[in-house]
Amino acid sequence: MQDRYGRTITYLRMSVTELCNLRCRYCMPVEGIEKKCHENMLSEEEMILAVKAAASLGIRKLRVTGGEPLVKKNIVSICEQAAAVEGISELCITTNGILLPQLAKPLRQAGISRINMSLDTLNAKKYAYISRLGDLDQALAGLEAALDAGFEKIKLNAVLIGGFNDDEIPALAELTRRYPVDLRFIELMPMYDSGDFGPEAFIPYTAALDKLPEAEKVEQDGGVARLYRLPGAQGNIGLISPVSAHFCAECNRLRLTADGKLKPCLHASEEYDIKGLDYEGMRRQFEAAILGKPKWHGELSATSRSHAGRNMNQIGG
Ligand code: SAM
Ligand code: SF4
Repeated sequence: MQDRYGRTITYLRMSVTELCNLRCRYCMPVEGIEKKCHENMLSEEEMILAVKAAASLGIRKLRVTGGEPLVKKNIVSICEQAAAVEGISELCITTNGILLPQLAKPLRQAGISRINMSLDTLNAKKYAYISRLGDLDQALAGLEAALDAGFEKIKLNAVLIGGFNDDEIPALAELTRRYPVDLRFIELMPMYDSGDFGPEAFIPYTAALDKLPEAEKVEQDGGVARLYRLPGAQGNIGLISPVSAHFCAECNRLRLTADGKLKPCLHASEEYDIKGLDYEGMRRQFEAAILGKPKWHGELSATSRSHAGRNMNQIGG
């Protein structure tokens, strides 16, 4: 289905939980978040009904996200059912990777075709610092497990943070030579509560590119990342610039939060509730959300915060 600005909406990011086993400083407060009442969150049945409603309106790609989707007890069952929904041709997941050693194979069997995994640093102390609870070795074991399970085109996501990992841009990019993976650098977004990081931590994608003199531009794949490649690399380097050069004109996505709110735009406050609705009710709300999708996300810069009203873990990144 097309929105009012002629964009065809084909991609849904569905958050299955707000909870997480890490507390990344740019994403979640140190104390975590208050666990919401079970009845206020979408049930497994409602999630699948929502995927069916979305698919009936032309959603073809589904990304399961969170919070950390792998802490959700019934994640394999959710993925299995979502993969079976008619019309869904691509099912992906975004994870911090910590639980992939146990779950990579079951997820592959359930029908997940692609994994995106967050990895902001290759330094164990810095990993522990940025994630507050994480262990770099566990994350790397997760990556190995995903490769062993046969996942291809894995994308590693690194948020660019000045004073934290700007010195590691070349080392992170090197991963595309060591492994058959893509590495994507994502500009830090000033969310509702971006924790410890102020405007000084913002690095525009151009500054990251400056640190990769060997990188050569390659053909775009239709996604939002600007693509480059190091000579001899097995995967691409992607630069994603939600802040310094927004891509709203090409945006084809909707988001569904774990508490059942459809967000037509990551950085806008508008939400359309689907909790408790039947298939037809959900379908109507999906239509309303698509028609209500704003032209762009409004002013967003290192110094002006997102209007989302929620942090990333409560939206689904
Ligand atoms: N827990 C999973 C993970 O970390 O990959 C999935 C959810 S997480 C919210 C999805 C993505 O959002 C991650 O790649 C994370 O780095 C990114 N993210 C979270 N907060 C962000 C922020 N303020 N700016 C840019 N990216 C952010
Ligand atoms: Fe958890 Fe992902 Fe947010 Fe980190 S970025 S706190 S892993 S939801």
